[in-house]
Amino acid sequence: MTSRLNSVIDRRRLLQGTASVGGLSLFGLAGCATGSGRPRYDAIVPPLAPVRAHADRLFDITVCLRPFRAAGPRLDTEQVGDTLVVHNYGHGGSGWSLSWGSSTIAVGKAMASSPREVAVIGCGALGLTSAILAQRAGAKVTIYARDLLPQARSARATGSWTPSSRICLESVAGPGFATLWEQMARTSHKTYRNYLGLPGKPVEWTDRYNVSDISREEQRARRTPDPLGFAEYDHLIADLNPAPQLLPRGGTPFDAPFVYRSESMMFNIADYGHTLMTDFFAAGGEFRRTEFHTPAELGLLKEKVVINCPGYAARALWRDESIVPVRGQIAWLIPQGEVNYGVTYKNVSVLSRTDGIVVQAVEGGDMKGYKDDNETVDRAEADKAVATVAELYSRFRRG
Ligand SMILES: Cc1cc2nc3c(=O)[nH]c(=O)nc-3n(C[C@H](O)[C@H](O)[C@H](O)COP(=O)(O)OP(=O)(O)OC[C@H]3O[C@@H](n4cnc5c(N)ncnc54)[C@H](O)[C@@H]3O)c2cc1C
Repeated sequence: MTSRLNSVIDRRRLLQGTASVGGLSLFGLAGCATGSGRPRYDAIVPPLAPVRAHADRLFDITVCLRPFRAAGPRLDTEQVGDTLVVHNYGHGGSGWSLSWGSSTIAVGKAMASSPREVAVIGCGALGLTSAILAQRAGAKVTIYARDLLPQARSARATGSWTPSSRICLESVAGPGFATLWEQMARTSHKTYRNYLGLPGKPVEWTDRYNVSDISREEQRARRTPDPLGFAEYDHLIADLNPAPQLLPRGGTPFDAPFVYRSESMMFNIADYGHTLMTDFFAAGGEFRRTEFHTPAELGLLKEKVVINCPGYAARALWRDESIVPVRGQIAWLIPQGEVNYGVTYKNVSVLSRTDGIVVQAVEGGDMKGYKDDNETVDRAEADKAVATVAELYSRFRRG
């Protein structure tokens, strides 16, 4: 994700910083441009292993619908008979990133009357975090859902820290939402710290390379304007992520004039999801496989406080047409443990996770997939994205 603030910082860095980096051209010794014009002392690019991008190494292609709401996630409450329903759905492309913060708000509302038992509808990113937080607040929790996490849409996400990705339209959400968003993002970020450094690496920080024939300024200038006005709030939490650094040409194995490096938090969803489910069951949580067809059915549950996290399915279950689908597809290359970074190149994004290498076509930006509810696989799109990655690595120089 880019931010307006980063854009300003980058522009300043580009203007001030690129002149004095010549001479340090070996992969391991190159300097990054900094505001002072000197290479950063930590600008060493570690040996990078190439992604083996071949169509016959694709082991899966998955499609998922982002549950987008122009006004931002639904977090209000309503009564269904004698049951209090707290909504927690509609997080667009930010559901994993905002999950702890959003669920903290939902659980606060659910626990206001100190119920002994709480029901959670849904076992995706929002359902699991709501359930765990309600347990920590002292409730006995049962998750009711059609699917456990591995089958839920959340399992088909990229796994990046992207807290303002398609989270709302700025004009519809209004100025007050920015403060709520920042609160959710900061709470989530802080909570994710608890999952760093664990065996299986459920959550980790990794390097990201942006490889391009043109500068980031030029990339931004050529971007098709977003006609809807998706909100960009990342500048509000600019202190949580390091700014991208321009690396000198020849300083990395990538054969391109512009290579930027940043670092970002990521979620290895297979392991992270397993950790969440294990934590939930270890704390006495129960799961009931259930499919609801109408809101009234929630009122029949024995628990009189329900946190409602059905994701995109709220459109059908709650007849909530404010939920708009934003289709996204991932092509999965066989995992490579030696590849520990992500890269974007020619509108293709690659992220190496422990459970697979995620390859995604991202041309069109936030508008890609907007209002498209087609969940069938587009093999041609996957092959084209993998071919673009193969082209990048065909010119890759080993350090
Ligand atoms: C391609 C793609 C990439 C993404 N990448 C990222 C990313 O990198 N970072 C990020 O933060 N976000 C990302 N997202 C967004 C993120 O995946 C979603 O915001 C998030 O998964 C929403 O989670 P959820 O728990 O609300 O919904 P879901 O995961 O859809 O879970 C809904 C749960 O409710 C249950 N349910 C639904 N209807 C019923 C019913 N009628 N009866 C009973 N149970 C029901 C389901 O079985 C499921 O258990 C991405 C999305 C896509 C499509």
